[in-house]
Amino acid sequence: MTEHPQDDLAAFALGALDEPERGFVDAHVRICVPCTEEVETYRVALHSYASAADVAPSDLRSRIVARASSGAPNGRSRDNAWTAWLRRPIALVPVALAVVILVSIATVLARPSDADRYASTIANIRDARILELSTTNSVSDLQGSLVIPREGAPYVVLRVHAPPSGRAWEAWVLHANTPLPAGLSASGGVVTITLTAPLAAGDGVAVTQEPSAGSAAPTSDPVLVVPRT
Ligand SMILES: [Zn+2]
Repeated sequence: MTEHPQDDLAAFALGALDEPERGFVDAHVRICVPCTEEVETYRVALHSYASAADVAPSDLRSRIVARASSGAPNGRSRDNAWTAWLRRPIALVPVALAVVILVSIATVLARPSDADRYASTIANIRDARILELSTTNSVSDLQGSLVIPREGAPYVVLRVHAPPSGRAWEAWVLHANTPLPAGLSASGGVVTITLTAPLAAGDGVAVTQEPSAGSAAPTSDPVLVVPRT
């Protein structure tokens, strides 16, 4: 038997090998139990990451390979490591490192974006009225919805960047044209703020950025608003 092509097994499992390496590894794996098992380990990892991210394994595989072969478009060192690893000849990369690269790349690619998480959060709300908040001014990379459940307190779901240090997102109930402070969050990503001020029919809701302790009245323009419920 020839030597085990250990350094090619992860790429083989991903379908990232070109001929003649692919044919060589394929022929070897067919007659070698340890290598078959290792390839299976990579495939199981790929499938479990794909499943966790709710994408087809073939789709995740092609995204990984496409990203690797397109070089390092955003200049991150992770891409460089990955690209270098896939580039032949690379008989020096230890298998353990290959696994780490495979898993970390798969994790990065598979992590749902905030936009995806926001969309699925909204899609999974039941028994509630949902009003989309409008963005204002030049701030466009934000999303928000006011959720008025049949039972329980109304709340807003926001997709926002993390506020700068010392700042927070503050929700307001616009009651008879007076903004009432209604809750804070210093987080970014997909954020839920339960409204602490009562929301009456016809009230509006807005979100501003404020000092992290909150303000008694808004000190900045709203970034998201629904004029009337
Ligand atoms: Zn082998």
